[in-house]
Amino acid sequence: MSTDAVTIVLPAVDEPAVAFGTPAGRLILPGRALPERRIPIRPCLISDLTLSAREAATRAYAPYSRFAVGAALIMADDPAERIFQGCNVESASYGATICAERNAIQSAVAAGFRRIALLAVSTAAPADGPVEGRSPCGLCRQVIREFAGADTLIVLDSGAEGTIGEIVDVDRLLPWGFCLET
Ligand SMILES: [Zn+2]
Repeated sequence: MSTDAVTIVLPAVDEPAVAFGTPAGRLILPGRALPERRIPIRPCLISDLTLSAREAATRAYAPYSRFAVGAALIMADDPAERIFQGCNVESASYGATICAERNAIQSAVAAGFRRIALLAVSTAAPADGPVEGRSPCGLCRQVIREFAGADTLIVLDSGAEGTIGEIVDVDRLLPWGFCLET
C-alpha cells in the first residue's frame, strides 16, 4: 500500500456580501472569502478511515431512526495516528441521542487530543443519494469546527462502488460557524 501523499486542492471562494435596504436598517447577506487550500494527505489513510467508519456504522444503536452512522478519525496532534471510531447511539429520550461524529470526536478528546486531521463519516444512506442525506448535522458541524484546523479534511462516504464520496474542509462544511476567536 502506497504511503505517498497526494495534494487535495480546495479552490478559493470569493463571494461578495450583498446588502438589502429596509426602513429599519440594512440587511446583509455576508460574503465569504477563502483562500485556495492545498492539503497533503495519504490516499491510503482516506481508505482506511472510510472502511473504519463503515465498520463503526455496523455497531450503531439506532432502534428509532434505523439510520446507522459510523465515523472514524485521526487527530493531527497524535503522532501514533490511532483511529478513533464512533457510531450513533440513540435513546428513548430522543435528546439524549449522540451522533457518530461527536461520539468519535469525544473519544479522541478524552484521550487527550485536540485537533482533527481527517474525519470520515459513513451512513446507511443510498449510495447514489444526495450529499445532504449523509453529511453531518448542524450540531456535529459545530463540534467538528471546535476541533478542526485549516488543514482538517472531512470525508462524506457514499458507499458507492468505485467512489468514496465527497471531501471538504470545515469552512466549506460549516460556513459562518460560531466561534469566540478574537
Ligand atoms: Zn450529528
